[in-house]
Amino acid sequence: MRSKSHGSWAGYARFFALRQARRLLAAAADMIWPPVSPLSGREVSRPGELDAQDWNAVRFIDRPICRTCGVPFDHPSYDDMDCPACLARPPVFDRARSAFLYDAESRALVLGLKHAGRTDAVAAFGRWMARAGADAVKDADALIPVPLHASRLRSRRFNQSLLLAHAVAKVTGDAVDPHALVRVRRTGTQGGLTAKGRTRNVAGAFKVRDRAVLRVAGARLVLIDDVFTTGATLNACARALKRAGAENVNAITLARVVKPVDPTK
Ligand SMILES: [Zn+2]
Repeated sequence: MRSKSHGSWAGYARFFALRQARRLLAAAADMIWPPVSPLSGREVSRPGELDAQDWNAVRFIDRPICRTCGVPFDHPSYDDMDCPACLARPPVFDRARSAFLYDAESRALVLGLKHAGRTDAVAAFGRWMARAGADAVKDADALIPVPLHASRLRSRRFNQSLLLAHAVAKVTGDAVDPHALVRVRRTGTQGGLTAKGRTRNVAGAFKVRDRAVLRVAGARLVLIDDVFTTGATLNACARALKRAGAENVNAITLARVVKPVDPTK
């Protein structure tokens, strides 16, 4: 009897301690992540919103764009045509769209998502990506987040592309299929590599899982990733999906590098 009541008391003590700890954690999270603009850190009314100054700093991509890779054109009469890069070397994916240009201003948005685990802006990112990729998700069967290698997923603890895919799906209502594609080879970082180096680096890095082949065959899929740099990663993913019989593979990324800096020059 004595031990039972002691056990029950200990149980409640643990319960209250846990509840207290959870409250403290929630309060701490609010202190770390109050609803601030993900770029400037100035307070906003809703998580993930940009304040007016940040809206001006982020360069959202609008038409005219290349109909294939989505790169913005300077002149309106080029709209819905292929850019010189796509004409010279047609990508493996069918169509790619991105929400904003990756530059010195918007870099913080992407890095915050990837490295700091700052996910408060992800719902807004999903809305922007769904808007930019409205024609890419039309008639899609599923969204496929670009997978991380298992070892990198362990060290980072989450895949930013999966977070983005769920955020886009919340707007478009599409299914997210995170298990169709797997990164079978751990690739070194793409940073600092030339376009050719990037292509070599990710060649054969992705594979469609055996048990996903049936659902990938004949499907219309949309890859989701954070940054389109040279398109090498998206092409490698699209190649794996098309080899498995995917009918159409589009892509939507949060950011888009328009003029990759060639470190060899
Ligand atoms: Zn293009």
